[in-house]
Amino acid sequence: MDPDQPSFRLIRTNKGGQKLLEGGYVYLMHRRVGEMTHWQCEQRGECKARVHTKGIEIVKRTNEHLHVPDVQATACCEIKASIKRKARDTQDNSHHIIGEGMLTASEGTAAKLPKLDSLKRTIQRQRASVLSAPVQPTALAEYPLSCWAAARTDSATDDQSS
Ligand SMILES: [Zn+2]
Repeated sequence: MDPDQPSFRLIRTNKGGQKLLEGGYVYLMHRRVGEMTHWQCEQRGECKARVHTKGIEIVKRTNEHLHVPDVQATACCEIKASIKRKARDTQDNSHHIIGEGMLTASEGTAAKLPKLDSLKRTIQRQRASVLSAPVQPTALAEYPLSCWAAARTDSATDDQSS
């Protein structure tokens, strides 16, 4: 693996937050502490697994996951994120964008993706939101993490519970 590349992937969520994908697990941003970002397993109700990232590295892991990794689910997240990104950043027609996303999917992952009509609606929603939203970086996963982190310092610090 290229040491300059992060071992994890970051994707945007519909609500403007971020998810971290790594090894078949999905983490939600919890908060930022200095240069570190704390993430908690998406199944945070029952699973106490946490990771801390600094730049492009995972610097700390806390607790084991109580469930098996789901590589297809995280691959599915990545493909949906890339479809949304292309919807916002390109003028390609929706069939083309979905086709490109499907090309990267394994058979098992493709089976987990939403149906074609649903993906098309997702693309339409993304484009509608771009038209009504202020200009901002949209391809967060492609930005240097330092840039991404700077953009996040204004939020995600509301929960001080731990
Ligand atoms: Zn977990």
